[in-house]
Amino acid sequence: MSEFSGKTILITGGTRGIGRACAAAFAKDGARVAICGRNDDAAQKAAQEIAAETNGEVRGFGCDIADASAVDAMVKAVSEVFGPIYILVNNAGITRDGLLMRMKSEDWSAVVDTNLTGAFNCCRAVTRDMLKQRAGRIINVSSIIGIRGQGGQTNYAAAKAGLIGFTKALAQELASRGITVNVIAPGYIDTDMTAFITEDIRKELLEKIPLKRVGNGEDIAAATKFLASDGASYITGAVLQVDGGLAM
Ligand code: NAP
Repeated sequence: MSEFSGKTILITGGTRGIGRACAAAFAKDGARVAICGRNDDAAQKAAQEIAAETNGEVRGFGCDIADASAVDAMVKAVSEVFGPIYILVNNAGITRDGLLMRMKSEDWSAVVDTNLTGAFNCCRAVTRDMLKQRAGRIINVSSIIGIRGQGGQTNYAAAKAGLIGFTKALAQELASRGITVNVIAPGYIDTDMTAFITEDIRKELLEKIPLKRVGNGEDIAAATKFLASDGASYITGAVLQVDGGLAM
C-alpha cells in the first residue's frame, strides 16, 4: 500500500500535459484524484480515461480557476465526493506571449488571472480543511521563466515569479500547522503548451539543456510525488527546478 492510498489530491489543469501525468501517477498509487479544466465534459472525459488507464479513482470537475466562487464550489464538491483535500497541485496555466509594446491588456490579465490568482483562489479554498487536519501539501507549478525571465513573456514571467513569492509567504503562514508549500519550476517540457516550438528552436534549446533531452510530464510528476511525500516533510518554501539543468 502506498503512502498516498486513500488521500485526496486536487490537481488543477489535469486534463492534459503535466497535470494529467501527475494525476495518473497519484491514481496509480491509490490516491483519490480530482482534476479540473475549464470545460466540464472534457474534464470528466479525461478523468474517466485516467481512471481506466490506472485502475484508479479519478473525478473531473469543470472549473475556471480564475473564478474564485467557481473554485470554492469545486473544492466543496471534491471534499464531498472524496473527503478533505490533503494535497493541492496548482498546475493549471496558460501563455499569451507577445512583446510588451504590443501586448494587449487582456493577454496580461488572462495570464496573471490564471497562473497567479488561480493559485491564490485554490490555496485559499483548501487551507481551511488543511488547517483543521493540521496537515497538507501544496505544490505550485511555476516555471524557470519565473526565475530568469524570457523576452516575449513578461506576463507569464511576472505571474510565475509572483507564484514563487506567494509560495514563500504562504509557507511561512502555514508551517506551524504542519502544511508545506513548495514550488516546482519546470524547464522545457513536451506538452501542448510547447507544441508550437519549431524544430529549429527545439534543436537550439536541446543544445542548451545539459541533460540533452526535453522533459516530459512524468519528470514533473515524480518531483511532485516527492514533495507530496512524507519524505519531504522538512521541506517548505523551496523551489525545485526540474529542467535538465537548463536554468542553473
Ligand atoms: P497544457 O498542456 O497547455 O495544459 C494546461 C492545463 O491547464 C490544461 O489541463 C488546461 O485545461 C488547464 N487550464 C488552463 N487554464 C485553466 C483555467 N483557467 N482553469 C482551469 N484549468 C485551466 O500545459 P502544461 O505544459 O501541461 O503546463 C502545466 C503547468 O506547467 C502550467 O502552469 C505551465 O505554466 C507550467 N509549465 C509548463 C512548461 C512546459 O514546458 N510545458 C514549462 C514550465 C512550466 P483545459 O484546457 O481543459 O481548460
